[in-house]
Amino acid sequence: MSPTLHPRLEPVRETILKRNPGEAEFHQAVDEVLMSLGPVLERRPDYVEASIIERLAEPERQIIFRVPWVDDQGRVNVNRGFRVEYNSALGPYKGGLRFHPSVYLGIVKFLGFEQIFKNSLTGLPIGGGKGGADFDPKGKSDAEVMRFCQSFMTELYRHIGEYTDVPAGDIGVGGREIGYLFGQYKRITNRYEAGVLTGKGLSWGGAAARTEATGFGTVFLTQEMLATKGRSFDGTKVVISGSGNVAIYAAQKVAQLGGTVIAMSDSGGYVVDEKGIDLEIVRDLKENKRARISEYADLRKQSTFVADGSIWDVACDVALPCATQNELPADAAKTLVKNGCIAVAEGANMPTTPDATDILQEAGVLFAPGKASNCGGVAVSALEMQQNASRDSWSFEHTEQRLETIMKGVFERCQSTADEFDVPGDYVKGANIAGFVKVADAMLALGV
Ligand code: GLU
Repeated sequence: MSPTLHPRLEPVRETILKRNPGEAEFHQAVDEVLMSLGPVLERRPDYVEASIIERLAEPERQIIFRVPWVDDQGRVNVNRGFRVEYNSALGPYKGGLRFHPSVYLGIVKFLGFEQIFKNSLTGLPIGGGKGGADFDPKGKSDAEVMRFCQSFMTELYRHIGEYTDVPAGDIGVGGREIGYLFGQYKRITNRYEAGVLTGKGLSWGGAAARTEATGFGTVFLTQEMLATKGRSFDGTKVVISGSGNVAIYAAQKVAQLGGTVIAMSDSGGYVVDEKGIDLEIVRDLKENKRARISEYADLRKQSTFVADGSIWDVACDVALPCATQNELPADAAKTLVKNGCIAVAEGANMPTTPDATDILQEAGVLFAPGKASNCGGVAVSALEMQQNASRDSWSFEHTEQRLETIMKGVFERCQSTADEFDVPGDYVKGANIAGFVKVADAMLALGV
């Protein structure tokens, strides 16, 4: 049965939607959280009296700025930059920057809103924010990306700081971009303030295992979820959408745990390799050559590339959507159920549409929402901030160990909250409620 909205929340939802017209992804993210909160408000009328949800839905600050840059032909281009500083009740605003042509205010707000609860769930002291630009790094030269990043930071630097707002990467922003952004911040401010950005390179303030963290974390959380049914990754067939940072390291950890990743994708299509995807090839294509996944099939003859169609048609035991929002719609969910899939965990942010989530949950498929299953990235970002603040640098093994412990804690919080609110096994409600309560209590404590 699909959840319904608590009557108290109907006018709240109306106000939020009216105040933010035309932002479909943001509306979807708000709805998903509101659908979970009815039982909390029954128990906590003080949240209603303090208008906590209305306050949470309105970003503390939204910055929109012009990003002019010169391309290799000497032409001047203009993009639009964003930083939404959403909520700082638990700590400095924290969240990535996305560079992709689809970026507009509604995407940044959906991501920033999710980030509040995700960051809260990690148990670490970080608030929520997000930013980005409608810039497409695809096909741009290194020099163009550098000039774009420098221009972006020329405005952003005045809004961020290790105690204020700490951006990191997201789609289209990886180590290269963080390097150019950090270089410009340092140049303008004359401060080696390592804790202002996370996802830095290892030799200049970065944390070991940050690159791997989101993908590894997704698999650690899925492992906990599988264990509730007496299952593990060992011997499972796994389909992972995407072939970026999250997908690649999710695939690596699945293989380490005895699973076989049989398909991966990019925006041009997907490859199927029943013997197991050769990750070294994917890494070389994506991390070194910035090439398309279709080239994988040229290099591994037993694999097939499919340009049209859905990666979710490939039968699997575990599905990890690690590409982008709304990439797993209702018909894909039905196919996964029909093919006997036992677990879906979101490595991307909001990859599963609301009706697809309902279909999976109603069919008894274990389902982990991104707020829980992809919080490993931001969690290790918080560990990077810790290391920067203490001028320390931890080993890969130590950091991975911390990540695994954090992910166990996140799962435990989702599970016990779902039990407490009489929806055992509903990790969507568990994650939303647990993430929300911590922020709401901090907001109450800090006053209006
Ligand atoms: N963009 C990532 C996310 O969606 C990481 C954010 C961060 O490390 O601050 O959580």
